[in-house]
Amino acid sequence: MRYYSLNHQSPKVDFKEATINGQAPDKGLYFPETIPRIPKHVIDRLSEMSREDIAFEIIKPYVGDTIPAERLREIVRETIDFPIPLNPINDQISSLELFHGPTLAFKDIGARFMSRCLGHFMKGENRKVTVLVATSGDTGGAVASGFYEVEGVEVVILFPKGKVSRIQELQLTTFGKNIRAIEVAGSFDDCQKLVKEAFADEQLKESIFLTSANSINVARWLPQQFYYFFALQQWKHKTPPVISVPSGNFGNICAGILAHLSGLPVTHFIAACNANDVVPVYLETGLYTGKKSVATISNAMDVADPSNFIRIMELFHQELKMLKDVVSSESISDEQTRKTIKGVKNKWNYLLDPHGAVGYTALEKYLSKFHDLKGILLETAHPVKFHDTMEEILGEPVSIPATVESLSHKTAVKDSIEPNYQSLVAVLTNVWRNTCIN
Ligand SMILES: *Cc1c(COP(=O)(O)O)cnc(C)c1O
Repeated sequence: MRYYSLNHQSPKVDFKEATINGQAPDKGLYFPETIPRIPKHVIDRLSEMSREDIAFEIIKPYVGDTIPAERLREIVRETIDFPIPLNPINDQISSLELFHGPTLAFKDIGARFMSRCLGHFMKGENRKVTVLVATSGDTGGAVASGFYEVEGVEVVILFPKGKVSRIQELQLTTFGKNIRAIEVAGSFDDCQKLVKEAFADEQLKESIFLTSANSINVARWLPQQFYYFFALQQWKHKTPPVISVPSGNFGNICAGILAHLSGLPVTHFIAACNANDVVPVYLETGLYTGKKSVATISNAMDVADPSNFIRIMELFHQELKMLKDVVSSESISDEQTRKTIKGVKNKWNYLLDPHGAVGYTALEKYLSKFHDLKGILLETAHPVKFHDTMEEILGEPVSIPATVESLSHKTAVKDSIEPNYQSLVAVLTNVWRNTCIN
């Protein structure tokens, strides 16, 4: 499989180069040259196959011969080494729980896969790579956990001071070894700006081999198809599901649509957004308006200009009409989200986190127009990750699992910098010098 840049100004590359580069030199996103057809005998036999076999079949064509089949199988096995259950909430709606991984959010799957692929590719190299990433909360923890102790890879994570939840911060700062957390006295946008500046700094890149681990990397994006197949594997109904995906940067739903276009039966997709409504507005009016992101209680989805939306458009040959046949989008307010969390807890005794609640609300709205259909919402994070928000909404204590509580007994280490580029360069140069001595 070869990947082209969506800006069309860079050479085509294989999976290895796309993973190492992250983004094409012309700053475009990489996109697979062809969409593989999943064999019908695989689709028909999903419920009899192991999850490992399914995941291996799905990803094999994308990886090609850049990783030997045996190693790829191991990578897949380690990536999905935790349950991903489909849990019915009521007659019409089931929750695909993607939060049983080490950092309690769906990003574990992409990050675990990518870290192992990059680790494999770096084995043959006599240089180290530094993964530089900005996080608003969940990406950092998943990347830290995924890359912990991966040889040949150093990780530097920037997070905005005081703007991630307590548990999210502990997930960033308690690993140590090859993982460094840097607290930036600014906003998430400041962190992202610093990262972008570093990637554009040709002089810096001459001395430090830098790559990124955010959702534009194909090795993080593509394995997210796995759990759509696992959902269908557990689906008991004749008519395929409507699938609602809480969306921010649109990497997750883009993987779902890719799975569908490869042959996975799905009746319809819903891109469930919070108040950041660029895509819902675009689907309704055909106008894509640049806006600033607004802060909500589903903070991992506070994205104004979703990076992966261009990939979704490419899947539909940049035709809005074709897209609208397969995907709807809905913007859900914080007020509606709170109401859903309370309502679903009281009526069905199921605890949704704020992101899942956005997905649930949009799905319920859609299904109210189609009584014969049933749906799945992707529950993208464990409610405990947003502990304080949950307690405030429910007005009652929410218990913290022992594995999470134990984080607070570990030593937290972080550097702190002002939001200026020179401070970041100083930290990066320092990291690089130390690791080259070791
Ligand atoms: C990142 C994240 C999302 C948004 O996923 P995208 O792939 O960026 O659309 C939704 N929910 C949670 C909990 C997340 O961490």
